[in-house]
Amino acid sequence: MSNYTRNSLQLIWNQTLDKLKTGAFFDMAIFNTYIHESKLYDLNQNGAVVIVPSFVSRQIFENNKAVIEKALSEVLDQTITINFTLKKDIQNYTELNEENKKIILEDKLLDKYTFDNFVVGHSNRESQAAALSCAVNPGEFFNPLFIYGNSGLGKTHLLHAIGNYVKEHSPEKKVIYIYSEDFISLIVNSIRDKTIEEVKRIIEEADYLLIDDIQRLKQGERSQEIFFNLYNNLFSKGKQIVLTSDIHPSELKGIENRLISRFNSGLSVGIDSPEFETSLAILEKKIEERNEQLLIERSVLEYIATTYSNDVRELEGNLNKLIFKAILYNPKVIDLDFAIMAFKDDPNNKSPGVLTVSKIKKAVCDFYGLTKSQLESKMKTTNISNARHIAIYLCRKHLDMPFAKIGMEFGGRDHSTIMASYEKVNKLIKEKELFASAVMKIEKKLGI
Ligand code: ADP
Ligand code: MG
Repeated sequence: MSNYTRNSLQLIWNQTLDKLKTGAFFDMAIFNTYIHESKLYDLNQNGAVVIVPSFVSRQIFENNKAVIEKALSEVLDQTITINFTLKKDIQNYTELNEENKKIILEDKLLDKYTFDNFVVGHSNRESQAAALSCAVNPGEFFNPLFIYGNSGLGKTHLLHAIGNYVKEHSPEKKVIYIYSEDFISLIVNSIRDKTIEEVKRIIEEADYLLIDDIQRLKQGERSQEIFFNLYNNLFSKGKQIVLTSDIHPSELKGIENRLISRFNSGLSVGIDSPEFETSLAILEKKIEERNEQLLIERSVLEYIATTYSNDVRELEGNLNKLIFKAILYNPKVIDLDFAIMAFKDDPNNKSPGVLTVSKIKKAVCDFYGLTKSQLESKMKTTNISNARHIAIYLCRKHLDMPFAKIGMEFGGRDHSTIMASYEKVNKLIKEKELFASAVMKIEKKLGI
């Protein structure tokens, strides 16, 4: 095989076909049926190998050999001879099936997710900065970059933003964005179709490999093995790898340790629920993007931002709901009364005054500068453990929740662990003034 990548062979052949087409050497019907389906398979010092789909097309190619060789020679700027070969005559020649082609070769980037429309606040500042740095300086500082956080907080948005940035600023770079379940299907299909070598070759040509929701890779052992080799190959060439997940790499279950240790070797950054100001700014951005002439009072945005700030997807969904109702009922202004009416049947709509587990978690996280996933994790550093004990204590004290239920809210801990946390805080409040004052401050923030 030549040193040309599959992509560059394709590019060269497309240019050659374009020349043949514009030169009007063939009748269009003949061109579309017989010529168009050909492929440049190899290019080396002995000449070019072009794969043709059938005996008939080979005959047509042979009859027009001189014209086709001239077109290819012009593209390459050197004289070249071509050998026209049937697919079946090439040993080990395999072709990706349509499904795999779609997964791996189609541009999967969604234009709507960019850095420009990603609102930056305390909760996502680090992940946004790291993602941008990878887009600008691939493979240099943070490799791999691992972005983790709960669902709906902007991980997929950032992954597409990296891809779109590269597409705009370095269009020659090859970006592969892939959802990890698609990756598993790709591997399973290509093993079945014996095209796995082809798939590996295409992935190894990537400058950026962006994999979304990597925690789902746990379903495929064989895929992990192949992923491990691909990962090492790209990493050793300094190609940028970015992964997202709903949990921190060290808590990934069912993923081989050798992979986890590689994920941990770059930079892992958490992304958290947006705080009030960021939620407001996101709402404003989303309204601006819709480009609709709607008069929404600020108090309404504040109301949505306080009620639904756990997750940006939810925030956006509720804004859409409000706008839908506004279009339907056409009020003069969209004020708080209208918003309360619009959301009155929503079971998730807890009035701002009601204390909930997520409000407690959020207040504790804000106080200790932690992310929600850290709070719920198994991490045992003093700061995180203390914060977790306090959150558990507050859930018991103010929401009167059963210990087992609190356990479920904190990473599936059992009843006795939760009880021990509760008692520990009770004791520390009595013994340590600083501790008591921290708990009081958090309670105050919660309006208790
Ligand atoms: P995740 O992948 O973390 O589950 P997504 O990236 O799919 O979340 O984000 C869910 C929705 O919220 C998307 O529509 C996304 O554009 C939006 N979103 C999340 N964070 C932001 C942000 N900081 N600025 C603007 N939109 C955001
Ligand atoms: Mg996502």
